[in-house]
Amino acid sequence: MQALHSLMKKYFYRVSLPLAIDQTFIYQHDSQISNGCRVLVNFKNKDRIGIALDLCKKPSFKTLNVKEVLDESAIFNKDDLELIFWTSKYYFHPIGQVIDTFTPTYLKKLKPKAEVRAIPNIDNNKKYDFKFKKILTSKQKDAFNAIIKIKSSKPILLNGITGSGKTEVYARVIAKSVQNNQGVLILTPEIALTPQLSTYLKDIFDDQVETYHSGVTAKKRYEIWEKARSGETKIFVGTRSAVLLPIKNLGLIVVDEEHDQSYKQNEGLLFSARDLAVKRADLLKIPIILGSGTPSLRSLHQSEIGKYTQVLIDERVHSQNPPKISIHDTNGMMLNCGLSDLSIQTIKKTVADGKLAMIFINRRGYAPEFSCAQCDWIATCHHCETNMVMHIDKERLVCHRCESVFAIPSKCPNCMSDRLDLKGQGTQRIEAFLKKELSIKNVFRFDSDATKNSGDLEALVDRIHQSTSGVIVGTQMLTKGHNFKDLELVVVLNIDHGLTSVSPFALEDMAHKLIQVSGRAGRKSGRAKVILQTRYPNHPTLQRLEKGDYNSFAESVLSDRELQNIHPFYFYISIKSASTKLERNINFLSKIISYENLNEKEFAGPMPLSIYKQRGKYNHQLVIMSASRTKLHQKTESIIKAISRIPESRQLSWKIDVDPLQF
Ligand code: ADP
Ligand code: ZN
Ligand code: ZN
Repeated sequence: MQALHSLMKKYFYRVSLPLAIDQTFIYQHDSQISNGCRVLVNFKNKDRIGIALDLCKKPSFKTLNVKEVLDESAIFNKDDLELIFWTSKYYFHPIGQVIDTFTPTYLKKLKPKAEVRAIPNIDNNKKYDFKFKKILTSKQKDAFNAIIKIKSSKPILLNGITGSGKTEVYARVIAKSVQNNQGVLILTPEIALTPQLSTYLKDIFDDQVETYHSGVTAKKRYEIWEKARSGETKIFVGTRSAVLLPIKNLGLIVVDEEHDQSYKQNEGLLFSARDLAVKRADLLKIPIILGSGTPSLRSLHQSEIGKYTQVLIDERVHSQNPPKISIHDTNGMMLNCGLSDLSIQTIKKTVADGKLAMIFINRRGYAPEFSCAQCDWIATCHHCETNMVMHIDKERLVCHRCESVFAIPSKCPNCMSDRLDLKGQGTQRIEAFLKKELSIKNVFRFDSDATKNSGDLEALVDRIHQSTSGVIVGTQMLTKGHNFKDLELVVVLNIDHGLTSVSPFALEDMAHKLIQVSGRAGRKSGRAKVILQTRYPNHPTLQRLEKGDYNSFAESVLSDRELQNIHPFYFYISIKSASTKLERNINFLSKIISYENLNEKEFAGPMPLSIYKQRGKYNHQLVIMSASRTKLHQKTESIIKAISRIPESRQLSWKIDVDPLQF
């Protein structure tokens, strides 16, 4: 019996496990397993679910048996696995954790077979007939024709100003793909934007549209995942986590608002869904449309050097072009709740005329500083060394980094004085000011606190649509995609830091927000105004953006930067470290510089992150840079090897962030 058993052929598989080790493991099985199936294996005396990656040679060491093969067909096909391997390599992230990031929660556990959905029979020759309700404008028609004529597999940059009707153009291209029986993936930067986009598409494509994001229950997500795999549904709208949806016969990818920094995930696998989407399209040789009213400098540069094909839409659907921005110098002015007299008068007039106004301030809460007028005490979070923000609705001080909540002291804890002051303003304080001091009845606060629960955002948007006049006060949530008719005035506060920041991404981010938030206005009348309060009225960037012309701003920034070694002509990888001891971070990062003999053009730092301290830990980074991605990756590989020789590496946590956005 024993002899017979050893004669039986064994198959050896490389298996990935969801562990923080960048390694695969070899297990044996009596029969063949398709690559990409889940397998149950024993690892360090624990049962684990892994993925069988591929067949390999019999190793020299003893291997354990696969306990059970959990799938009849692969959950990741050959193309998916190729993208997963690429992701692991590009982001220096363990393969098992990459797979874990893109596996529906439902498949991470053992489920009785009955709960796993049976795949229905799909008619692969189904004829689709869609009714379009809108007639394309001539500019939309030109863009659509240009897109479908493109034969190369370069990414398509659809650069269409806000309100130019990009969604309708996507829809026409999507219809072509579906009629060819292909699947379509559409990414949006935020959950908040998915209802709007899905509703738009469902109106045309009916039950062929599914929405996939973290707000959908695990069970439902798994069902959608299966619908993608089987080809039962064709069109999938989703956020970052949807980028690897195993859509059958994927024929088109659309990335809406491609410039948006929310495409970058900032915990776990630090990937950019936009960049992964581009890679996915490249591997599959399928078209990808990157749409934006304010394309990233990176995309515009790629177009300039011929790596992307650019398609322009330079007119709005309703021909009222985006409003001009008037630069309002507030130097030396007395501000009232952050607002100048001019801003206040214009807001009042807009509301009195029965119109809608909007105030954009990128800060939630009531006031960002609570301090003593008698001594130098400021309320700060002990864990994060940052100011506590007053939240009037909660009657509490809140730390925006760790969400710790503190009671409001009635006396200064330092000198016992009762002269406590609130400085600065957030959305809540402006809301209160408009209601109390300006007696404005309809004030709509549009921030993450006001839209915590599912359905809140939709309800808020509905209330705004139903009311003809009033004021919307909101954070960067406002800059994204929403259409408010009758919006005649936008007042922009506090964006000056974008002009002075050292980060190579800050200027562009500021320009995106300014142009996007301005673009919400005047979609109907053409008389809309944008007031930008600033202390840098002569800053060349503002001078260029004043006309609302993002493209000329971008062109001049690109030509300025070409001669300096800076994004988008330069690439970055950051080594981030977190420790309870500040010196430990600095020592660790400094040793990387000396061990690797980095010359001063190759790195910046060690420097504190913008979130300098959080939950008791200091955060620092060393940024490695190069004009060549290949060189940068080679350097990073060598750094990772060197790190194992640095003793501090075992006393702190560190990670690699490829294409970081925080400086
Ligand atoms: P963008 O994303 O380019 O800023 P949207 O796709 O949100 O613009 O379109 C702006 C508005 O114009 C939407 O309300 C949309 O329904 C409408 N729209 C788009 N195309 C047309 C068209 N051809 N005719 C009439 N309305 C249109
Ligand atoms: Zn005091
Ligand atoms: Zn804190």
